Order: sequence, then C-alpha cells, then structure tokens
Amino acid sequence: MRKYDRNAVFNIVIKVILFALSFTGSFLLFTFPLKIRMLISALLSVIIALGVVFLFSILLRYTRFYYPYYSFVSKFIFRDKEGNVFCPCCSKYFDAFRDERFYADPKRFNPDMFSNARQDVICDFCRSAPRHRIIAEWAEDNISLLQSSKILYFAPELSMMLWFRKNRIRVKTADLYDPRTDLKLDITALDLPDGSEDIVFCNHILEHVSDYSKALSELHRVIRKGGRLIISFPIDPDTDIVREGNGCSVEERIRLFGQNDHLRVFGKNSGRLLEDAGFEVDVIDVNAMPENIMPVTGPADYDANVIFCCIRK
Ligand SMILES: [Zn+2]
Repeated sequence: MRKYDRNAVFNIVIKVILFALSFTGSFLLFTFPLKIRMLISALLSVIIALGVVFLFSILLRYTRFYYPYYSFVSKFIFRDKEGNVFCPCCSKYFDAFRDERFYADPKRFNPDMFSNARQDVICDFCRSAPRHRIIAEWAEDNISLLQSSKILYFAPELSMMLWFRKNRIRVKTADLYDPRTDLKLDITALDLPDGSEDIVFCNHILEHVSDYSKALSELHRVIRKGGRLIISFPIDPDTDIVREGNGCSVEERIRLFGQNDHLRVFGKNSGRLLEDAGFEVDVIDVNAMPENIMPVTGPADYDANVIFCCIRK
C-alpha cells in the first residue's frame, strides 16, 4: 500500500474510533472505577494526539517546512530494508515508487506510448523519475568534480535541486519561461560568454526547442574546453537519429511523439548529433547502478533514460 493510502486509512480509523468512543464512552465512563476512567482518558489523549500529528503533517505539505519535517519523520517510518526502493535525489526509502498515471491524460500524453515501460517509477516525495535518480547517482560518484565546478542547470528539476541543496553545491539555474530561475536564457541564443561554464545540465529540453542543432552549438560555445555537458532527451528505440514534426498540430504531436509539447523524438543513434556538435560522447552506465533506485525505462516507452555525459572538445 502506498504512503498516502496508508495515511488516509489511518486517519479514517482514528475518526471511527473517536466517534465510537464519544458515543459509548460518555455512558460507560461514569460506571467505571476511577483507575479505568483514567486509563481510558490517557488512551483517548494518545489517539487525539496522533490524529493531530497526522493532520499537521498533511497541512505541512503545503509549506516550506515539509522537507525537514518529512526527513525527520521518514527516518522512523521508511528504512533501508530488504525490498525497499531508494531515491538518491531526496535520500528517502519507500516500499515502492508510485504510478503518476500519465497514460490517463490523453489531452497531454499518448496512452499507447506508456503501455510497455514500467509506470511505478516516480518518487513519492520529490517526484524524481528514473533519469533523475540515475543523474543523482552519477553526481554522488562525481561529487568532488561538482563541488569545484561552475555549474549551469537548464530547466532545473526539483529532485536534482534537492540533491544539490543537500550537498551544499551552488548551481546557477536558467530557463526561458520560469521566473524562479537565476537567469532567463534562450538556449538557442545564449547570452553568455564563450567557454564560461564548467558543467551544463540540460535534460529533456531539446525535444521542446524549435532548433535543437542551434541549441547544441550554443552549448558547445559556452562550455569551456574539457568541460562537461550532461544531457538527455526522449529516445525511441525504433528511430535512428531523430524524427522531426515541425508544423505538426498538437494532436499530431501527441500521436507521434507522445506528448503535446514535444516537437520531435530522438533515436538510438542520436549520440552522433552530440559528436557532430563537437563533444566526446559517453553514456552514464546504468548497469553499474543499484537496482533499488530503479534505473529502468519509463514512465514513457521513449524514456529509455540514456544520459549522455559529454566532454567538450
Ligand atoms: Zn525522491
């Protein structure tokens, strides 16, 4: 049973017990000896206190205190035990990852493209997908490199930002539309000097921009020689390098690429695009990663979760 289901069931049980006690208790209490009455009062107090704590935890979810509170509570609830899954982004154990039911929203997604991959892959706390956990696991192994680098993170994802915050690593964030980022940047025309960045993170962006080759040449320009580009995009194993859909209607995009705002899908040999842009291309090895972070394909069939770790030539 998932965490939220368990909380909901617990809340209902508490309410039923309180309801029953309030009816029967008031009649019975006066007929009981003092010691029994005190015991019942103590039990009632504990039950009410538990109910208050659970209500409190639900309300906290909407505040910035939720992360420290949950971190503290989860130490006692979710432990590193046999069969549990682990999210390296938020450092939490769960009995399972959750199914976000992307396939149930045909206005945004093509349900047919969610039929082969695993769906129960999203972290219950930070909403990391397998690709975020693969990157966090890679980051754990490369922590000293990250600590000593100037990092630019395009379209920052909450789960990876938690990892950076947890490890006290400063990153500069950028997005064209999100006002919460440090910089407002168009990835196809970067307002940054040549060779100014050590490491750039760029996940699931190239399928959204009008001219992805321009974006790649801009990334090559702003990363210093020997610097790194950590990049990923949807990869369809039945496509060779890239399948374009310029000028497609929203309905066609959903049908062809699985999502309403995807302009294309990349293929199994798409690493060549990165080589052509001037990068030495390597792929983060998921086979060496622990199984409990679930570095698997999903939630979409085109989420092969290949993360390219490139060095700028
Ligand atoms: Zn997580």
